[in-house]
Amino acid sequence: MAEEFDLLLKDGIVVTGEGLFPYDVAVRGEKIARVAPQIPGRSAKEILDVDGKYIFPGVIDVHSHPLYEDDFETTSLTAAWGGTTTLIHFAYAFPGQTAGEAIEKAISEGSRASYLDFGLHLGLFQVEKQYPNIPDAIRFGVRTFKMFMTYAKLGRFTSDYYLTASFDLIAKHGGMAMVHAENGLATDYLEDKFNREGIPAMDAFTRMRPAALEEEAIHRAIAIAEICGCPIYIPHVSCARGLEPIARAKRRGQKVFAETCPQYLELTEKDLHRWKALAKIGPPLRSREDNEALWKGISEGVLDVVASDHAPKAKKIDEDFFNAAYGSPQAETLLNVTYDAGCNHNRISLPKLVQVLSENPARVFGLYPRKGCLREGSDADLVVYDPSAPHTLTGKTQHSKAGYTLFEGRECLGKPWITFQRGRRVLDRMKMTARPGEGKYLRLA
Ligand SMILES: [Zn+2]
Repeated sequence: MAEEFDLLLKDGIVVTGEGLFPYDVAVRGEKIARVAPQIPGRSAKEILDVDGKYIFPGVIDVHSHPLYEDDFETTSLTAAWGGTTTLIHFAYAFPGQTAGEAIEKAISEGSRASYLDFGLHLGLFQVEKQYPNIPDAIRFGVRTFKMFMTYAKLGRFTSDYYLTASFDLIAKHGGMAMVHAENGLATDYLEDKFNREGIPAMDAFTRMRPAALEEEAIHRAIAIAEICGCPIYIPHVSCARGLEPIARAKRRGQKVFAETCPQYLELTEKDLHRWKALAKIGPPLRSREDNEALWKGISEGVLDVVASDHAPKAKKIDEDFFNAAYGSPQAETLLNVTYDAGCNHNRISLPKLVQVLSENPARVFGLYPRKGCLREGSDADLVVYDPSAPHTLTGKTQHSKAGYTLFEGRECLGKPWITFQRGRRVLDRMKMTARPGEGKYLRLA
């Protein structure tokens, strides 16, 4: 009798958004073929004993920037080493570029070089000229559009007039808006003022980007989205106050989704003083109270997604802080830090971990149920996770070209053992078995 399945994961603990189940998982070709207790071993060509390990649906990191120190190849490589199986990157339309040009370039670079399946958001730098391109982008399978309410001096700022115009158009075409929500003009004024007063740039940094100005921008973006009838996604929420307008809008039933990142859950202004220019990120690292409020925001469903905001830049720890670029490498530590800090320290449950790293990203960005769940017929994207493996995070062993991590020296318990994308092995017991170019472009619905 021919075997029914190509692969059988035996005796693991399946973790879904609903709970933990002592089930086996059978794979045929690129798909999950069966999830059930006690699937007979003789039905499969290959059996993998995963006793004592968790089986998560593939991790979907929806926030990465493959255009600085890491390109599509190394961003997906470092993410794959961390246990991620799918990425949604930002393609940026720079001034003078159309949406279509930016997206076609990103699809072709990603298809050539990506280790992992990937989708795209479009980031607009010159919204007043570029927003009429939004309908073109949707034809390429891109449906989320990011604008900046901040970075006026860096030339990325979008006024409320053009935020409203673009949200209006996005809503009409069934897309979703996304904003970097900090009040950019007030921030720039404070930077100038502290500069004039001779306050060192690093000491002024958190004060010039205060939580009140993040909360204000989140509130304003949500209000504009409400009157346009436009779904909105708030990436990288960094503070307790930022949760308030999101919680209010959700209570009203508005279509608002929100994300935070491990750096905002675990690091504080102390880490900024330790890592200096390397920890210059926007929004800034804040306080221990903010960390704990964000964990609570995850538990209570105010925050839907945890993603990396992987944006490694070429910078040195002691370079001039004022001129240092914003961003840090985060993709490789996403799952391990969220798991260790969240599940080992009793801030979130295992089903919640799967919700924020896999299920919700898939639902919010139109990949569900193809990805983000362990259902028959879904892509066989799996993370077999060993909760008993201790390890120490260090930039030396990571795969980003940045060469450092803000989590340097952090001890974690638990790491990915074997991961699969569409049935093929990606990471296999500390060996990378995937190859660049094997990842496929995903149209988001
Ligand atoms: Zn980002």
